[in-house]
Amino acid sequence: MKITDVQVERFRSISRTTRDTEGHGHPGPERQTVQSLTRICTDEGVEGYCFGGNQAVMDSVIKPAIVGEDPMYRERIWHRLNAWQRLHKGTLSDRVIATVDMALWDLAGRYLRQPVYKLLGATRDKVLAYASTMCGDELPGGLDTPDAYGRFALACKERGYTAFKLHTWMPPVPWAPDPRRDLEACAAVRQAVGPEMKLMLDSYHFYSREEALLLGRGLEKLDYYWIEEPMDEQSVSSYVWLTEQLDIPVLGPETAEGKMFTRAEWIVRQAADISRGGVGDVGGITPLMKIVHLCESFGMRMEVHGGGPGNLSVLCAMGIPGEFYERGLLHPFIDYEQKPPYLKALPDPMDEEGYVHISKEPGLGWDIDFDYIDTHRVT
Ligand code: MG
Repeated sequence: MKITDVQVERFRSISRTTRDTEGHGHPGPERQTVQSLTRICTDEGVEGYCFGGNQAVMDSVIKPAIVGEDPMYRERIWHRLNAWQRLHKGTLSDRVIATVDMALWDLAGRYLRQPVYKLLGATRDKVLAYASTMCGDELPGGLDTPDAYGRFALACKERGYTAFKLHTWMPPVPWAPDPRRDLEACAAVRQAVGPEMKLMLDSYHFYSREEALLLGRGLEKLDYYWIEEPMDEQSVSSYVWLTEQLDIPVLGPETAEGKMFTRAEWIVRQAADISRGGVGDVGGITPLMKIVHLCESFGMRMEVHGGGPGNLSVLCAMGIPGEFYERGLLHPFIDYEQKPPYLKALPDPMDEEGYVHISKEPGLGWDIDFDYIDTHRVT
């Protein structure tokens, strides 16, 4: 089998979120957006898909690297793309590599008629989810006050979630960031849901060391489960400093560049208690599984960043406890259970006990509505 083409289809979709000037998502009026779907084609007619991607990057870097290659040689292709990043820094991001890698895994699953998590070596068919909120806002009745977070956490608990993670206020909210206000929200959530629910904080990401320590000590008193990315992850020494002083587990790195290599350095330097990575951060399923095995070898916990079928597939193939699927981002004004128009089903359905169930269909498990994409194509 040989790869013959890489095509990116653009199509109209609907969004109910808007982005603030710093790029954070919030609820907004329903609006038209343009989505894309990357399609890897082969001479045997089998195809693999992943949402995202743009044709210019595929034409300039990806097609020269992979057309003519056997799509089952995922590891070889991934290493080639990783090496090509050195001279294509401006175009070949980890996210682009992730799109190609996931489409190749999807292709393999469709070709072999197996779900990807079983090709990876399955360990389970469902994973507990945590409710992951949008960032704080100034929308009345939204996520505008500590009590609003408390009410929303209780609603999530009633929906079945056993864990809840706050993303708190960040610029451009005029008075944000404020670590004391973050702690007020964390306290209101603990107060609302009681002692059982597992709670985590993912705050503003550029606090000083002292502010991060203040946050961590406050979370310890509230019996929080982990603290996530309170400082710039480019400063590993800051995380070593913080992790040494706190009892609450520090989780990271999430957005730091460097794939499995960065995670290895963080583990060796004891810069975090729980490692972190998602398919979009590290360049796909192939490197994320390397991080899983790295953590397993060091006896480290690892929590997967972000949702979607790629991350869910890895979670269902982990031999070490990646405890949670990150479901969201959630907000009182958004109906997360409503599927996107270009899918026939929600890719991460959750039951009443808080478990997300993985698709048993061949490939990554997106139930793509190709008729919708055809009729909404943007040329
Ligand atoms: Mg995070």
